[in-house]
Amino acid sequence: MKKSEVLHALQSEIRRHSFDTFVDEPPSVAQGGNGVVVPGCPTCRKRFHTMAQFVDHLADDILPGVLNRLSTGSE
Ligand SMILES: [Zn+2]
Repeated sequence: MKKSEVLHALQSEIRRHSFDTFVDEPPSVAQGGNGVVVPGCPTCRKRFHTMAQFVDHLADDILPGVLNRLSTGSE
């Protein structure tokens, strides 16, 4: 696999994730439930509070998964 293809795969996966807010345990309060809006990654529904934790999420949760997919796809 070319380096440029690996880079593209990593970039597109990283772009799916963001440090944003999402509603934990929907429905939200606005819909009559008791869900709370929390900071974290909406894609993974993973809660964290700092940019450092978001970077750890990408490094520890996302990158190994992409590399595993790439290696199984090319072997
Ligand atoms: Zn995520």
